[in-house]
Amino acid sequence: MVLFFHLCGTGWTAAPGKSKLFPVVLQKRVEDESGKFRPVKEAVYWKPEQTAIIVCDMWDDHTCKQAAKRVAEMAPAMNETLKAAREKGVFIIHAPSGRMNFYAGTPQRQRAIEAPFAEAPLDFKWKYWNDEKEGAPLPFVRAGGCGCKVNCKGWEPDETGLRHWKGEKIPWTRQINTIEIADEDAISDNGQEIFNLLEVRGIDKVVLMGVHTNLCVCGRPFGLRQMVYQGKNVVLCRDLTDSLFQQNDPPISHFRGTDLVVEHIEKKICPTITSTTFTGKPAFRFDENATH
Ligand SMILES: [Zn+2]
Repeated sequence: MVLFFHLCGTGWTAAPGKSKLFPVVLQKRVEDESGKFRPVKEAVYWKPEQTAIIVCDMWDDHTCKQAAKRVAEMAPAMNETLKAAREKGVFIIHAPSGRMNFYAGTPQRQRAIEAPFAEAPLDFKWKYWNDEKEGAPLPFVRAGGCGCKVNCKGWEPDETGLRHWKGEKIPWTRQINTIEIADEDAISDNGQEIFNLLEVRGIDKVVLMGVHTNLCVCGRPFGLRQMVYQGKNVVLCRDLTDSLFQQNDPPISHFRGTDLVVEHIEKKICPTITSTTFTGKPAFRFDENATH
């Protein structure tokens, strides 16, 4: 059901006769006859109990120290957003990939493991790019790695200048502790487990937030692409995400790069929203004057 409404007062509302529907402003980019893409907004109402948020790879550290700093900078705003969404009945899934052992035995991890199996329309796999649906890759999208002016320790350039991770130890151990994990949340990095959690709750609306926009957020088995192919109404929370790429030729600023990835998503993958949907407050912005 699509309803249009005035954009003043986009807080949570109870539409007459309905329980706790909340307005969501979806943004996508649509191609016109001249081949130009323009942003198009569409207002819809979602039910909290049919909605989940997946927090992707908000780890406590990173091989790229500037990437780790940006996660720490964004995490408080993400926590506020999750709190506001949770209070309204949205289901939260934390996905600090590869670090499930840290959470072994917790009720939130058990909840994911024990969700009854649900048959999915497709296999759960990584999807880094889809040439057929998305055209030629953005030049930097596959070159995800330390994008600092001087390479972080462990990232070593090859003869073409492209950096590769050669470090001894991946430094992340868990999700950053600024983000609270509530009793009613779940923890999983597994596409099938996450699908099971969604199906048993009748959830068909999924919000992805976290890092990195051009890599895991799009590509993981629970990421944007696979969620679209599984038939979910998936959106990216575009202010609570960050990219990771090496600034190639021509060099572009880090934040311009993230914007380009978000534009690609809006054109070719799925719509985006902002955290304002849940908080009623202005969207998060990085301090672009800080060293990134
Ligand atoms: Zn770096």
